[in-house]
Amino acid sequence: MSERQHARSTDPRGRAAQSHAVEVQPDAAAPAMAPPLLDTVRLTPDALRTLQRTHGNRYVQRLLASAPDVQRDVSSRTERRRRGRRAAAGFEEELAEDNSNLQEVMDMMGEINLNALRHNDDFCDGMQERLSGEQFTLLAAAMILNSSYAPAARQEALRVLTAQLGDPDVARRMLDRDVEAVIVPRNQKMTDLDEFQSLRTRQTFDGRWWAHVRGVGNVRVGSRIYVALAEENLLGGAPDPGVFDAIPGTRVPAETPQGGYTEGYSTTTHELAHGIHQQGLSRQDERLIERAYEAKAEETDDAPALFENHWVDGPRVSLIAPADRAATGESDAQWQTHVDGLSHRQRKSFECYAAQNDHEYFAQLSNAYLGANTGLEPTTLQPRNNGRGWVEANESDDMLALLDRIYRNQTVNEVESSGELTAGGRRTNPLPPPPPTTAPAAEVAPAPAAAPAAETGER
Ligand SMILES: [Zn+2]
Repeated sequence: MSERQHARSTDPRGRAAQSHAVEVQPDAAAPAMAPPLLDTVRLTPDALRTLQRTHGNRYVQRLLASAPDVQRDVSSRTERRRRGRRAAAGFEEELAEDNSNLQEVMDMMGEINLNALRHNDDFCDGMQERLSGEQFTLLAAAMILNSSYAPAARQEALRVLTAQLGDPDVARRMLDRDVEAVIVPRNQKMTDLDEFQSLRTRQTFDGRWWAHVRGVGNVRVGSRIYVALAEENLLGGAPDPGVFDAIPGTRVPAETPQGGYTEGYSTTTHELAHGIHQQGLSRQDERLIERAYEAKAEETDDAPALFENHWVDGPRVSLIAPADRAATGESDAQWQTHVDGLSHRQRKSFECYAAQNDHEYFAQLSNAYLGANTGLEPTTLQPRNNGRGWVEANESDDMLALLDRIYRNQTVNEVESSGELTAGGRRTNPLPPPPPTTAPAAEVAPAPAAAPAAETGER
């Protein structure tokens, strides 16, 4: 959802982040700053101006030259356009007449240049005309993805994004609206990244700190729209516990570290679905989603439907009294009578995620369609529903047609017709590998940090 509406871009469990990134401290920075540190430096225009004053122009030039990535942050719209023109000229020069080497050219361009191509309308027009639908999808995914903070997750992110951008009209609108999907590394808070800094000391609609949330679907900064994807959800495992630390000097407190999601559950598809909903669809499509949500909400407003398995996330409310109420002696029957008597507004905190609003409803339906809605719903603790088959049997023909049009029968997990993950099949958010059994106990990594060595090496 938008940062305003989105309240909960990931499920209630989705969060994390403490910054181990190097922050530029203009006053303390020594002119002989070692280049290797700069891989993780993110320079804001303000920080750059201060550096320029304190250390001079030459120092800043050297800084930029040693870390080309930082230029992404300081480039103006005009500069981005200029880079877009340059990148397009290079791209077109390299692309063979029959487009057979598209992947090769994309690999050669590098991500910054691919991202810059979004700002060249003529190029987008030309490619949309010239490439097959499948090729245009591949290119659009690469133009939208920013994996500069977590390059190890790039391939998996492209695989997932490609499954969601199969409708060229949707993909093109996302490019035109300057949507950028940024991968948040597992060892940083989302709000440590410049792109999501505006959320640093703010809370979601349901009272969670954005600093501890691990994804968001639609944050506007200037003319650009950012979507946050989590490295740990793409590659499997949990975020670094440090991402739940407090932010000193602010109201943001420390929180109990959260683990990762169920195998196969994708926060990536969920967040990008929010981006698609708000930036990639027509007003007519948005109305269709609103109407479908309202109809489902009305059908399940009272018992017994309130407690039945009608939503993509299972029942709207659990038949079983929540633990804290049961602890006061409330029986399940008393709980059901109580919650049935409440309005949607009053009982929202007991309702499944998809029932919260039309945006979460669409994002979770997208997950199910893409085979990525595995696991238990965190509020009701009931199993989520998964697979296109479930959508077909339980949602309107219009909704199925919309999802078919957007996602074109793609999935990100191999699933059975029941929605179960296929044994040994391809999946996103895989289980982390077991710790090595031969290592002495003291050297075994702590459970939550079950990341491949390539990622943990960044810390
Ligand atoms: Zn959401």
